[in-house]
Amino acid sequence: MQANNPEKPIFPESEEAAKFVTGISGWVDRDGRFWGADEKMARYSGSTHRHCDCGEVVEQRSYCRACSRRKDIEKYKNAQKIEWDHKTPLYSQDHDKYLFDKDDLFDLMCETQVTDPDELELFICEPNELSQINSEYWNDDLPEDGELPDSVEEALAVFNKALVDAGTVSWHPGKFAAIVDLEAKHD
Ligand SMILES: [Zn+2]
Repeated sequence: MQANNPEKPIFPESEEAAKFVTGISGWVDRDGRFWGADEKMARYSGSTHRHCDCGEVVEQRSYCRACSRRKDIEKYKNAQKIEWDHKTPLYSQDHDKYLFDKDDLFDLMCETQVTDPDELELFICEPNELSQINSEYWNDDLPEDGELPDSVEEALAVFNKALVDAGTVSWHPGKFAAIVDLEAKHD
């Protein structure tokens, strides 16, 4: 039998394209995908909503507002805290806001009438850099074990260096919570 021969074209009307089966049993999700004995995955795959930990109905892969807030508070509480250098941007988890300097921090404290910066649930940000391109990007175009032309390799090296040299382009909240000493001098 040649069924697995990748050279041979299979048309919808071909005998091999699909078959009617009898005598197999298992879980099939809403889209008709067969999951065998895995009832849990079949049910998950075929669902659009779920019950949140608290029982509220939410979309698949999410939590209700209250539970996601509770998880955020927990995350801040359990995060390791390190002193803020007054230079690296901060992220206020409670207000979903990036603070790029001390003035931004004072503004938010004013706005939210908070006297203790800890109430803003501040995380120290980490930088995002532009990802470099490696030659695997062209794997589908090149023959197997094929290599890029030298001219392209050289241009790629120059281009990747430019990406590195561009440095930080944006920020994301890091894993460390911030200890903010507003009196401290950092130069
Ligand atoms: Zn919930």
